[in-house]
Amino acid sequence: EFHYETEIYPIDFRGRRIKADDRESIERPSLPERSSPKEKQVDVGLASSMLYYAAIPGAYEAAIAVIGDEDYVPALQLVRRLGKRVMIASVRGSCDEIYIDPIDPKRVRDVDTIFLNDLLDDIRLDYEPVVVECQSERHQGERTFSTRYRPRPGQRVYCPQCRLMYAEDRAATEAELNQAIDTNLLSRVLPGYKAGRVARLIAARGYGFIRSDDGSDFFFHASSLRDVEYQSLSERQFVQFVVNEEPSEHNQWRGNVREVRLLEAP
Ligand SMILES: [Zn+2]
Repeated sequence: EFHYETEIYPIDFRGRRIKADDRESIERPSLPERSSPKEKQVDVGLASSMLYYAAIPGAYEAAIAVIGDEDYVPALQLVRRLGKRVMIASVRGSCDEIYIDPIDPKRVRDVDTIFLNDLLDDIRLDYEPVVVECQSERHQGERTFSTRYRPRPGQRVYCPQCRLMYAEDRAATEAELNQAIDTNLLSRVLPGYKAGRVARLIAARGYGFIRSDDGSDFFFHASSLRDVEYQSLSERQFVQFVVNEEPSEHNQWRGNVREVRLLEAP
């Protein structure tokens, strides 16, 4: 029978909240540190506990140290001198060479170091499945389905069938968007206008994107529509428009248009 105890070392965030990108810099040490929260006494605390309990008869048999920093070497050596076995678990990329060397020159461990990266599938935290309702307007049949996904508050969830249907639709739309526009239709384009297709509609926000016949994507707002209602537009529909601003090499989202009209066959 196994059992463990937890010691908690508080982290001082220096009055700051952790923003998403600060969390990133903690999780990915290669990124520059931004908020630099201060963890105090953790390394020495961990080493002290490992040694302290090693000195108490029967407290533990094997120390499993989840570490990468070479500062632990003296503590690991002493723990072994007290007759305990030492196992090291680390993370590839932030593990000191000394724990990887198969010769184990510093005699710090009893078995090869294991890497948590290799065990992600086994140790990954999966949420318990919950039953939710598919919120797709196009859903057919029973709406409830079981998922391990945890939607954010207000986020819509779609069942696997609906997600697949949307993905297939999207692929079909993309394929069509990139086909050349019929010359008959192009002859109907007004002077100063460009031809394209409605590439994407973001109905909840009243805007969308147009793919021009030369392959650029342009933002348009419902207020730029002429002689057509936003609600009656559909993806892949032919339109003509006046370019406000071309997308730039550095910012493909910069492109936007005005005077958006349907482009219809005679
Ligand atoms: Zn569905």
